[in-house]
Amino acid sequence: MNDCLFCKIAAGEIPSTKVYEDETVLAFRDIAPQAPTHVLVIPKKHVSGWADAAGEDDATLAHMWRVAAAVAKSENIVDSGFRIVSNCGTDAQQTVKHLHLHVLGGKAMAGEMA
Ligand code: AMP
Repeated sequence: MNDCLFCKIAAGEIPSTKVYEDETVLAFRDIAPQAPTHVLVIPKKHVSGWADAAGEDDATLAHMWRVAAAVAKSENIVDSGFRIVSNCGTDAQQTVKHLHLHVLGGKAMAGEMA
């Protein structure tokens, strides 16, 4: 998608601090981290959100969760615990309309999720 920030990051047109990359998925550090570890996992293909995902993307979307877990391992936050968050739409404060998982860890987080 032409004017999508995360599409530009996936294409290397905007720099990012990459944590993991393969053919379908990219993980990079959030520019405004909300925890000592704050990594975003995105599909390289533009998908606006979970509600817009098509069946043909199932393998990529499932793979994102495995990559998120692998990031947690490489960041050494599995034993202490981590959180995977995906904001969807206005009420959830989604600011970038390209589907992504936040992998957060390295501190004790609030018990409330909303
Ligand atoms: P959300 O608000 O759930 O849509 O998440 C979007 C995330 O993208 C926010 O946590 C932002 O800090 C992050 N972000 C915005 N621009 C960049 C960028 N250029 N590189 C890395 N992360 C970014």
